[in-house]
Amino acid sequence: MKNPKVVILGAGYGGMMTTVKLQKLIGTNEADITLVNKHDYHYQTTLLHETSAGTAPQEQVKIAIKDVVDFSKVNFVQDTVVSIDPKAKKVQLEDGELEYDYLVIGLGFESATFGIKGLEENAFMISNVNNARLIREHIEYNFSRYNNEPEDRPELLTIVIGGAGFTGIEFAGEIANRVPELCREYDIDRSKVRIITVEAGPSALAGFDPELVEYALNKLEAKGVEFRLSTAVKEAKADSIIVEHDGQQEEIKTENFIWAAGVKGNPIVEQSGFEVNRGKVQVRPDLRTPDYDDVFVVGDCALIMNEESGRPYPPTAQMAMQQGPVVAQNLKTLIRGGGELQEFEPNILGTLASLGSRDAMGVVFGNKKLFGWSASFMKKMSDNRYLMKLGGIGLVLKKGKFDIFH
Ligand SMILES: Cc1cc2nc3c(=O)[nH]c(=O)nc-3n(C[C@H](O)[C@H](O)[C@H](O)COP(=O)(O)OP(=O)(O)OC[C@H]3O[C@@H](n4cnc5c(N)ncnc54)[C@H](O)[C@@H]3O)c2cc1C
Repeated sequence: MKNPKVVILGAGYGGMMTTVKLQKLIGTNEADITLVNKHDYHYQTTLLHETSAGTAPQEQVKIAIKDVVDFSKVNFVQDTVVSIDPKAKKVQLEDGELEYDYLVIGLGFESATFGIKGLEENAFMISNVNNARLIREHIEYNFSRYNNEPEDRPELLTIVIGGAGFTGIEFAGEIANRVPELCREYDIDRSKVRIITVEAGPSALAGFDPELVEYALNKLEAKGVEFRLSTAVKEAKADSIIVEHDGQQEEIKTENFIWAAGVKGNPIVEQSGFEVNRGKVQVRPDLRTPDYDDVFVVGDCALIMNEESGRPYPPTAQMAMQQGPVVAQNLKTLIRGGGELQEFEPNILGTLASLGSRDAMGVVFGNKKLFGWSASFMKKMSDNRYLMKLGGIGLVLKKGKFDIFH
């Protein structure tokens, strides 16, 4: 009898955790496991704001898939998924086609642009290593241009961040730390640089405790970040953005516009005909799609309702990495002939947002608020904890964060 074919799409938090757990749970003669990913590396998306600002080297964020996945047990295919045909149980890749008996979709997120004019063409997005490196290079290039221009062009030194949510705030903290370095490097007076965060909502960090929000804003303002709240981005152009506040429109000149105001599930899922809610698959408790018993969805492509709040859980790496082991366990059960599948119970350990490399704020252990060094310490420990789960102590030593005692 032929081994069942398990295909895992995407080497993000959900896909990687599913793969490394499954390779331990079953023997090579039980199933053929294939992992498909665009790149030959996994990246820590939760650190991309650092790569984008240039405060962390890209090598820290990237993890070679071969360093954590056992290629004697898992067939790795570096390719791009184009579409899925769940009825025919096939996945179309740019360079081929795969058949499966069981599928895991972990294709992550894309930035959501909400149809805002010019955003796709003129804004930078923090969503993968390639565009994070582009943001870092672009800002640095504009600083290097400044003293070479015949006229004063403040838009080269104006960095505008669209969205004061989690990602926008974390990027603001990093870029505020990076700017003094760029000023030194390119002989620019710091007072000429502006970092402006534009937020459509009445407050930054919606959903966070007001005391934590106040702490974050005070700290960032002290580093020179300006906040424009209740201000919506209406249009992005090559050298400016149009914003609206109280019905009044204004043009802000900038050649460094970073859009960090929302994400959506990878559109391949909806385009492949899966039933979606807000672009994501509202999965069953065992993480399978409502309509296919052989398809699991993890991470930002999956929607899970929080019964207490009546709202979906926010898409986080924390959720994705907790889902991987449940899917692996359920795949083992199905491969071995069936039985009761495990249900996924989110265990939210906390939410911490960094405000630069040595400052952070957030909530841990249910409701304990943390600020400053202790929050930053906990955040770095949680990054290291993920590396430990993924690749053991070797990976922690290679990619971990150890600048924790100052
Ligand atoms: C700057 C930033 C900071 C964040 N900070 C935190 C935080 O502190 N804590 C937290 O819990 N969450 C955080 N998040 C959210 C978190 O990163 C996401 O929820 C998480 O990455 C989702 O994981 P995933 O497994 O769904 O997929 P992802 O991590 O998005 O990975 C998807 C993978 O699929 C691959 N892929 C995509 N499309 C294709 C295709 N067509 N073909 C082949 N491969 C493909 C990608 O290359 C990637 O490897 C942050 C996000 C950002 C952007």
